[in-house]
Amino acid sequence: MTKSRSEQFFEIAERLLPGGVNSPVRAFRSVGGIPRFIDRAAGSRIYDVDGREYIDYVGSWGPMILGHAHPQVQEAIRKAVERGTSYGAPTVQEIELARRIIEAFPSLEKIRMVSSGTEATMSAIRLARGCTGREKILKFEGCYHGHADSLLVKAGSGIATLGIPGSPGVPACLAELTITLPFNSVEAFRTAVDRYGKELACVIVEPVAGNMGVVEPLPGFLETLRELTRQAGILLIFDEVITGFRLTYGGYQNLCGIEPDLTCLGKIIGGGLPVGAFGGRRDLMDYLAPVGPVYQAGTLSGNPLAMAAGLATLDILSSQRADYDVLNHRTAELCAAMGRLFQAADIPVRINRAGSLFTLFFSDHDVVNYETASLSNTDRYALFFKGMLERGIYLAPSAFEAAFVSFAHSEKDLEETLSACAETIKTMK
Ligand code: PLP
Repeated sequence: MTKSRSEQFFEIAERLLPGGVNSPVRAFRSVGGIPRFIDRAAGSRIYDVDGREYIDYVGSWGPMILGHAHPQVQEAIRKAVERGTSYGAPTVQEIELARRIIEAFPSLEKIRMVSSGTEATMSAIRLARGCTGREKILKFEGCYHGHADSLLVKAGSGIATLGIPGSPGVPACLAELTITLPFNSVEAFRTAVDRYGKELACVIVEPVAGNMGVVEPLPGFLETLRELTRQAGILLIFDEVITGFRLTYGGYQNLCGIEPDLTCLGKIIGGGLPVGAFGGRRDLMDYLAPVGPVYQAGTLSGNPLAMAAGLATLDILSSQRADYDVLNHRTAELCAAMGRLFQAADIPVRINRAGSLFTLFFSDHDVVNYETASLSNTDRYALFFKGMLERGIYLAPSAFEAAFVSFAHSEKDLEETLSACAETIKTMK
């Protein structure tokens, strides 16, 4: 049988790149099969090098909330590229994007642009340590905050997919400074603050977890984090790299009414180009060099192409054309309809949804933390994933990730997705 072009490219890729990929979960390791090499994308669709078309629910892992190749974003990038690609000096676009983001988030007074979500969280942690003079940090199991050393302890995303607790290469003395607790456990948090409170520089959390699959905070969880961190002089960091501009115009903090001390952003604010940002109160942010002593820098920080793509994206998101209620409602209907299909087939599934993010856990158990997420039947997910892929639906190649619905997904796309789901279910019994 002749090999597909994706298979041929993957063979070459495996010789040149570890696992054939530049980011682990792209490798289809946990679901089996060969990753599709993508040639182009437009709207809700991606097209592989074999000419196959897919309705895309990965959306580059979050940034593409407007769908792919949005004409207005493309045009902004085209215009920016004509003026040069990087200057290493201030630009008007940086302050414009900073102003838009600050206006959208109640807790932000100043931000700094970086080039990835990892840089944002890593820098926010350094800032928290620098401001407080404390070294320990606290994170939650299954939350992924990028691959910086301090944060790669019991992390979700690829770490969860590959079933590894942390990573060799992270010095034990550094990992020891990271306390991990179950997400959504108020009691565990109280105990940890009693025990470590005075040593903790910060608590970092995905306010809605997206990297063990989607898990919403239980009532009272984030409130307790806010109350106890404030009492103990610990900085609270919301990692809104996924949730920023995803659930509403702004962050989850706008919806829950809890203001963290620092916020990390990425993905959507770069409109599909490499970007991240972290920000917070002026007094904290002014600990950063060149005002304060905490060093942080970046050759491509505030890159003009990324700023242009981000600005165009936020322009559209803030306008009438992007109605989050419609997007979230559409996603809710998709999830409900999928749920009914699985129920009719007697396949246990829990569908967690927040706005336009959702995860199907093949499980009888409600999923509220990493332990319960881990009960999801990954073999069954792999079957589902493969069946959907064959029918032109591109889901995350891992059971522990979010699916991302975009403004470009039409009713017809969702109908196609549901009929693919119905067909796939028939093969799963
Ligand atoms: N924080 C969260 C919540 C993420 O989901 C991610 C990436 O998926 C990151 C941080 C790291 O961002 P990046 O991959 O841009 O470094």
